[in-house]
Amino acid sequence: MPHPCTDPHHHVHDAPSFVDAVERACRERSLRLTPIRARVLTLIAEQGKPIKAYDLLDRIRADKALDEDSAGAAAPPTVYRALDFLLANGFIHKLESVNAFVACHHPNTAQHSVPFLICDRCHSAVELEDERVVAQLDEKARALGFVPQAQTLEVHGICARCAQAG
Ligand SMILES: [Zn+2]
Ligand SMILES: [Zn+2]
Repeated sequence: MPHPCTDPHHHVHDAPSFVDAVERACRERSLRLTPIRARVLTLIAEQGKPIKAYDLLDRIRADKALDEDSAGAAAPPTVYRALDFLLANGFIHKLESVNAFVACHHPNTAQHSVPFLICDRCHSAVELEDERVVAQLDEKARALGFVPQAQTLEVHGICARCAQAG
């Protein structure tokens, strides 16, 4: 059986239960999930695959779910600060190669480095949750006297579902 996180079907958590899990994690860690942070998180979760910052901004501008104060506060810097908060606390990941954000499937773990498998056909992104890959890369870098501070591993290709669809 594949590890759940390498199974492409694993990441279709429904958005509400993902947002619930993040709300719980925020309470436990005494973090403030403000309305704008919660809204940005929900939009990313509902998307179900990587979403670009300007698409998020568009959706928030058109948003009926926010009251007037929050919508007024939804200027780009506010949205970028909300993204920074969500990134710093490990609730979302940023995919550098496609410049987009995706929900982390493990909102209860702290911020982590994780390789991603990105499908170039359906644009889904799945975490390849294998600590050995991350640890080994770190180890090899250190053996060369290199001090790694961040890992961005993004593998592009065709996902199992798209490969099957031909
Ligand atoms: Zn993650
Ligand atoms: Zn695909």
